[in-house]
Amino acid sequence: MPTVRPERVTRELIELVRIDSPAGEEAAIAAELEARLGALGLEVYNDRSGPTTGSLIARWEPTGPGQPILLTAHMDTVEPGRGIKPRLVDGVVASDGTTILGADCKVGLAAILEGLRALGEAGSAHPLVEVVLTWGEEVGHLGARALDFGRFRARLGFCLDALCPVGTIVNHAPGYDRLRAVFKGRGAHAGAEPELGVSAVAAAAHAIAGMQLGRLDDETTANIGLIRGGTARNAVPSEAVIEGEARSRDPAKLAAQVAQMRERCEAGARRVGAEVEFGVEHEYPAYRIPPDAPVARLALAAARRAGLEPTLAATGGGSDANNFNAVGLPTVVLGLGCTGAHTVREQVAVRELVALARYVVALIEEAGQSTR
Ligand code: CA
Repeated sequence: MPTVRPERVTRELIELVRIDSPAGEEAAIAAELEARLGALGLEVYNDRSGPTTGSLIARWEPTGPGQPILLTAHMDTVEPGRGIKPRLVDGVVASDGTTILGADCKVGLAAILEGLRALGEAGSAHPLVEVVLTWGEEVGHLGARALDFGRFRARLGFCLDALCPVGTIVNHAPGYDRLRAVFKGRGAHAGAEPELGVSAVAAAAHAIAGMQLGRLDDETTANIGLIRGGTARNAVPSEAVIEGEARSRDPAKLAAQVAQMRERCEAGARRVGAEVEFGVEHEYPAYRIPPDAPVARLALAAARRAGLEPTLAATGGGSDANNFNAVGLPTVVLGLGCTGAHTVREQVAVRELVALARYVVALIEEAGQSTR
């Protein structure tokens, strides 16, 4: 029987969070993970797609029958995430309160390593396991966007990156559009000849005032998060730029919301005689995996095998799984069991870390018993 060792996986988590890995600076953690995966007998390839490292793509060659599966997690963390000093107190790992912990997503990394190690030690037969560790997830899924998906044999993906309890399986997530509008007016002296000016700031203000923003329904949100414009207090501003986003789990609602924001920008510009250039970047699409899809069924069965009570859930956030699903590699997102992610209060209970490592073991065991 594969045995997950709580002290060992806790130590591994602590070692991994001590290695700084802000997005775009993942070279040190990638080198460490490459060595650890190699020591477990995996072949590791670095796709060199990022500024300091690429994503790691590792294969654990099969020793038995079953369906290939793909496990993925990201190597990067958010700020403040440098010089992290993890502490283990009363069965909970936390930072010293001045930085994040990096449990998002190093709990996922540690659980994958421990799961593979436990299976390897037990000499259990296993199917092909592909492990993909990405860079730059937190700043727009950059590593996932650069992946060559033609390399993967698995048709079942499990992304360890949901900010919810272990046993939660995210099968429904929103799409995300990034928006930028540049308003162009005409500069003039604000006191001497304001009649000659066209205020780009006023155009942007009218546009934003007319937009529906915030939580629009249970699966749709929108935000204008940045605004800048003008050059001086006494000059009619000739340019103003706003940047925002819209998300929805329903692609039609997302498109309608973005169309409304574009229309408001055009109306705001018209109202003062300015012009506007409106740009949309479709960062990633929404996905919805039916509960009876093979990837969801395997996630549910493995959770029960690991002694968890699984629940399927929808989320308001994106992950690398959006990119995997977009190219036809069905991927659910598994809860990491940490709390306070992206804050200095981030922590994880050893109990949850151990549960996630056991879940990794169970996923591979279930895959070994299933056929295409
Ligand atoms: Ca994350």
